[in-house]
Amino acid sequence: MPERRLTLNQYKPIRAELVNALKSKKCKGFIDTLVRYNSGQSIDSQEEIPAFADYIYNSEDGGIFWATGSGYQVGKKIKIFPCCPDLYARTAAETLMHELIHGLQGPGSDDQLDRDLRDLGIVPIGNDGKPLPFPTGVKDGKPYNDWSGY
Ligand SMILES: [Zn+2]
Repeated sequence: MPERRLTLNQYKPIRAELVNALKSKKCKGFIDTLVRYNSGQSIDSQEEIPAFADYIYNSEDGGIFWATGSGYQVGKKIKIFPCCPDLYARTAAETLMHELIHGLQGPGSDDQLDRDLRDLGIVPIGNDGKPLPFPTGVKDGKPYNDWSGY
């Protein structure tokens, strides 16, 4: 299956969702704290997340693509879920934000970020308003990938 890059018309509303979400102090503070804790670098996510998204979007040797499986970020390439026509900008922005954080976080992956949150004493809240349990990486005594995409 050929890769489908996001068109500008598809990218614009997703970018607008990112900018809108980052107007929230809670969202901006969360990303700033997490990235600083993990990478040692201070960022202003309100500025840097949209700028980084544009940089990736415009990269000749990278870009933002629709994923056929799960989202991913490697170097200047990001894949996000194609989801649900009416909710598409919102859910696409959520997966894009997640992958952009990976691009800025420095070392580690999902499990590293989960440990950071635990160390920072931040408890993620699910869509139902209840705190989410901490992933263990183990199920029935075997390694199991439950590191989340908070
Ligand atoms: Zn991830």
